[in-house]
Amino acid sequence: MSDYAHPQDLDADTLMCRTVAHQWDEFTPINKRPPSFGWRMSFRCLRCGAERHDIYDSFGDVASRQYVYGPSWVKLDKEVRRHDLRVNLHSRRRVLARRSKRKKVVA
Ligand SMILES: [Zn+2]
Repeated sequence: MSDYAHPQDLDADTLMCRTVAHQWDEFTPINKRPPSFGWRMSFRCLRCGAERHDIYDSFGDVASRQYVYGPSWVKLDKEVRRHDLRVNLHSRRRVLARRSKRKKVVA
């Protein structure tokens, strides 16, 4: 078995983030010192909990960027393309829609 994940291995939140990007929300980290130059903006994904810590220089350019991922974040197989993720996401949504319709018929 490969050490790298495929779309079907991802949980729903991680699949969504890998497919359409993270849902960033700014926050103030308590465990980061002020940068030695420039200024920091930190973000946490509302879906998967990933963090992004950017330091911008006085010209507004990104001087550094750090990502911190949670345990559900895995490396994707290098053969996986964005369209593979979209196909898997669509497939899961179709299954959920069918289940939802079935429940309505039974109820
Ligand atoms: Zn995310």
